[in-house]
Amino acid sequence: MNEQVKWRFRRIVEETAATMSGIGYMVHTADDATEAARLLYTLIPEGSTVGLGGSVTLADMGVPEALRAGPWKLIDRYRTASWEETMARYREALDADIFVTGTNAITRAGQLVDMDSSGNRVAATIFGPRRVIVVAGANKVVDDLEGAFRRIREIAPMNCRRLGHKTPCAASGRCGDCMIPERMCNYVGIVNHGMKEAGRFHVILVAEALGF
Ligand code: SF4
Repeated sequence: MNEQVKWRFRRIVEETAATMSGIGYMVHTADDATEAARLLYTLIPEGSTVGLGGSVTLADMGVPEALRAGPWKLIDRYRTASWEETMARYREALDADIFVTGTNAITRAGQLVDMDSSGNRVAATIFGPRRVIVVAGANKVVDDLEGAFRRIREIAPMNCRRLGHKTPCAASGRCGDCMIPERMCNYVGIVNHGMKEAGRFHVILVAEALGF
């Protein structure tokens, strides 16, 4: 990575970590994805049930495979025979010991902002699992909520293509403000701080561009 880009990512991580630590999140920092993965596994006690949010960041880090192979009970949303079974795993994950997820955007004020198609990730992040661990690259940090929603609109076409959703943006690369069942942009979650339940939210901030 270019030296100046790395410097900028490290500064973003430093600043965001300070802000988020001040509003109740348990914040961890990592210089790259390898260090982030090592950190992540130390935060999951042996034997825990673990739910997963859909995330390119986690997929690129090999997190689903590691959770399958390690000393945990992964609620495996990816190995299902039908959509009904997938939905059952989504529901099961709402009662997991640990929920591991990426995020669409983090504002400079420390808000986590997510948009879901099914709502499982937004729901589990807000309530249910005893601990939520968010892994985010410095590329996810935006100035404010307006920046977060702009970012979400920009990445939605890639997510639609990844998941095979036949939306206008999947063809054109731009939001067509669709109103169809395959729409990606259905449910919005904003976490304003981590103070409500002490120790529930852990955030691993990584000085790299991860995911979309
Ligand atoms: S509203 Fe529809 S077209 Fe617009 S970004 Fe979301 S899924 Fe794509």
